[in-house]
Amino acid sequence: MSEPDTLSPPAPADAAAPWRPENAAALYHVDAWGESYFHVNAEGHVAVRPLLDSEQSIDLHEVAEALAAQGVHFPVLIRVQDLLSTRVIQLNTAFRTAMDEVGYQGRYTGLYPVKVNQLREVVEEVLDAGKPFGGGLECGSKAELVATLPYLTDDTTLLVCNGYKDVAMLRLILQMQRLGKTVLPVVEKFGEFERLRQLALDLAVEPRLGVRVRLATVGAGQWAGSSGDRSKFGVPMPELLTLVERLEADGQRDALQLLHFHLGSQVANVQVLKNAVKEITRIYVSLVQRGFAVQYLDVGGGLGVNYDAMPLGGGRGGVDYSMQEYANAIVYGVQEVCATEGVPPPTIVTENGRAVTAHHSVLIVEAHAATTREALADDTAPPEDAHELVRWLYGQWRQLHNDTEPYSLGQLLEVYHDVVEQRRNADTLFAFGYLPLEQKAFAERLFWSSALDLHRRLRRLQPEWLPPELAELDDLLVDQLLCNFSVFQSLIDYWGLGQLFPILPLHRLDEEPTRRATLMDLTCDSDGTVNRFVSPNAEKRALEVHPLREGEPYRLGVFLMGAYQDILGDDHNLFGGVTEAHIYVDVSQPGGYAIENRIPGVTVEEMLARVQYFPGALQQRMHMLLKHKTRTGVIRAKQAETLLDEYSAFFRLPTYLDPSAESAEP
Ligand SMILES: *Cc1c(COP(=O)(O)O)cnc(C)c1O
Repeated sequence: MSEPDTLSPPAPADAAAPWRPENAAALYHVDAWGESYFHVNAEGHVAVRPLLDSEQSIDLHEVAEALAAQGVHFPVLIRVQDLLSTRVIQLNTAFRTAMDEVGYQGRYTGLYPVKVNQLREVVEEVLDAGKPFGGGLECGSKAELVATLPYLTDDTTLLVCNGYKDVAMLRLILQMQRLGKTVLPVVEKFGEFERLRQLALDLAVEPRLGVRVRLATVGAGQWAGSSGDRSKFGVPMPELLTLVERLEADGQRDALQLLHFHLGSQVANVQVLKNAVKEITRIYVSLVQRGFAVQYLDVGGGLGVNYDAMPLGGGRGGVDYSMQEYANAIVYGVQEVCATEGVPPPTIVTENGRAVTAHHSVLIVEAHAATTREALADDTAPPEDAHELVRWLYGQWRQLHNDTEPYSLGQLLEVYHDVVEQRRNADTLFAFGYLPLEQKAFAERLFWSSALDLHRRLRRLQPEWLPPELAELDDLLVDQLLCNFSVFQSLIDYWGLGQLFPILPLHRLDEEPTRRATLMDLTCDSDGTVNRFVSPNAEKRALEVHPLREGEPYRLGVFLMGAYQDILGDDHNLFGGVTEAHIYVDVSQPGGYAIENRIPGVTVEEMLARVQYFPGALQQRMHMLLKHKTRTGVIRAKQAETLLDEYSAFFRLPTYLDPSAESAEP
């Protein structure tokens, strides 16, 4: 059921007051999901304040214009690099505050789990920001291990290796340990422990390791399967005990350094987290009391991000706790159990990825065309020979259009039922050959014109409750904006998990958005559509947008894209990775920012190589095909040559649309 507020583009509180950028900020709920970072500036552009100690703001529309002027093709993923360091500092500060509050005697180490976003520039920025706080990394696969090991410049920097590990990986980890590096393999399965033990014997090193414990506490939400009895991860309690006894028998009580759990991403409920923390701290205490030198308590990731329109958006896209509450829950839980048992507290380790990276990237897409329902002109007359049914539809529309008195909800519903029925009848008549094509087309235009008038009257009525048919009408009249991007490449969690991302125009926000639209991507897939948008109430099925202007780009920003999206994206329809631009605050530059780095998007040639097509072979085939046409006299040899050149030029082009080349040659 649709709520009345989905009916219409909202008017300013005082309908007579002019539209202001503040109205746009409220309409798109920027304060809720944008935290203190994103805002709408006086020019009506979306801007970002990425720094903690400065109000310096970067105008994202200006950045997009600058990139376009440099000839960059959209879509573009903007990385606001300063936001990464800001998030790292805020996370460390939250733990510092919690620890000071209760006089916690241990320390805190924030690890960055690289799977959330492995891009080198992201990892390096996060590592740099974490340096003063002793931050480290977490990896979960062979390739991630290879990428992260060389970043352990300090012997004390912690690298935790989760996920299943083969012999080669374990051997490499042990050799790094021998060099004095703090690399800890986390045992996910008991068998892994036995392999590690054997390898350590062969290499004659004293192993250091962690264990992922299968807790009784079960998370809630999308990723709840990461914990609990049926989880794919973790060593169950009886096996943990066997492992402990083995180490005791080997006289290797120092080997077990870390205990770990991970409840899953977007932890929905802080209470569940508290329970898990207390449960693992109990295990920690028992092991310390048995003489084990466990140093680290690693509570995994899962700090949630508010993708939603509520300030603390519990429910669908958000979480109802703050970063500080998250830190408090962990620190207080560990402190409480350790204090009761009189055991020195461990170094608390977290592996938060989403919360560190989500905010820093914004996808900018361009709308290329809009499909709108147009009403007939006021002076439209029916054709001379119009069928009776067409005349009826015409009469109904005129009446709806011209009547000055308002209709009740019941009357509107009745008219709607009638026009729907007559349109169906028109289809039937056409199918049986009783209605010429021109008249069927005219009947359709009459139907849409009536629908628009019905919708106008409905909006004026502002009904408390909307019958489902009329809610459907609301959906039918929404525009479709064709946008230059692929849902499967850039919004994979929208497609796969129904995760909503905040979307709004980057500019013209000082102008009231008078249209409502869904977004179509470039893929030939009906799932390549965005038709659900963040809203505090019922689902919002259309986004408020501005009418497109001839010859002027219309750009939309998709926000909170920094976690998982870039790396999960797939190559549906062979669009592939988008162009990236990395920006920093730089007050010495006009606009207060600098574009430091650009990574070009994928080209047609690169994309095709992934599915085993190569230019040489394709050109050869094309050549043969043209040769045949030359021989049969369809084209001249010279023309064939030019066409082959034109075809060949495509290999170097970006996979997305290039609006500037609409009429030109590639
Ligand atoms: C994915 C993962 C994380 C990161 O979780 P976020 O929700 O992004 O913070 C941390 N630890 C482990 C073991 C993971 O698998």
